[in-house]
Amino acid sequence: MEYMKHTLVDALNQKTCPVCHIVKQREEKAFWWFFTENYHDSEVLEDLIDTSFFCDYHANTLENNDHGPLSFIFQIMVQSDTQKLKNLKGLLEKTMVNGQQGFLGGMFNPKSRTRSGKTIDGVFRGYTSCRFCRMNENTSRYIEEILEELIRKDTAFRELYRKSYGLCRRHLIDILKLSNDGACSEFLVDDMLSRLKVMHDNFELYFHKLDYRYSHEPKGEEQNTWLDALNFYSSSKRSSGKPSAT
Ligand SMILES: [Zn+2]
Ligand SMILES: [Zn+2]
Repeated sequence: MEYMKHTLVDALNQKTCPVCHIVKQREEKAFWWFFTENYHDSEVLEDLIDTSFFCDYHANTLENNDHGPLSFIFQIMVQSDTQKLKNLKGLLEKTMVNGQQGFLGGMFNPKSRTRSGKTIDGVFRGYTSCRFCRMNENTSRYIEEILEELIRKDTAFRELYRKSYGLCRRHLIDILKLSNDGACSEFLVDDMLSRLKVMHDNFELYFHKLDYRYSHEPKGEEQNTWLDALNFYSSSKRSSGKPSAT
């Protein structure tokens, strides 16, 4: 717990959501391990074969990594899918209604379609979530639980949180959902209300200065409020990074 507290205190000094920051850090570490060692681990390979799907974000990350390990993985995935499709072909031919022209013709029959749908799910296990997204979800949940506990029990940590950049919307909602402690939830809601008020007031100022009558007034931090909002709504670190809390 002490080590994780230290990690979270460090994350509170970053100009981004602390949970997003740690998830990103751990993802970078996991990718390093993946490409140096884990990619030929049998458990990892089985998981990759079962999932066989990468979201756009992680596909881009993979694209910028070492092609050697990727070729090794993809060759095994291609072999596995070749075998699955051969098995599927045999199974579908058995499930089709008599008299249909080939198994693809049979799929247009509603009864055959239901049966063939089950057969397809059986072969491909109906499992299409990105392995790396699942990894990040697990990290998020773990960090959220620790953050919730620290906010609940540690007043000094609570104060550090109040002065930090604050949670993104998504991680705020997650923590509110997992917390059973009314005082913790109340603190987080009140804290976020004051951050949103700062953003709201800054938008007012931004639009005030757009008015030609006041356009001579010097521009300030309100010009980057849209970036604060983008950070809040997107879970990513961007260049503005001004803590909204005062
Ligand atoms: Zn976040
Ligand atoms: Zn992903």
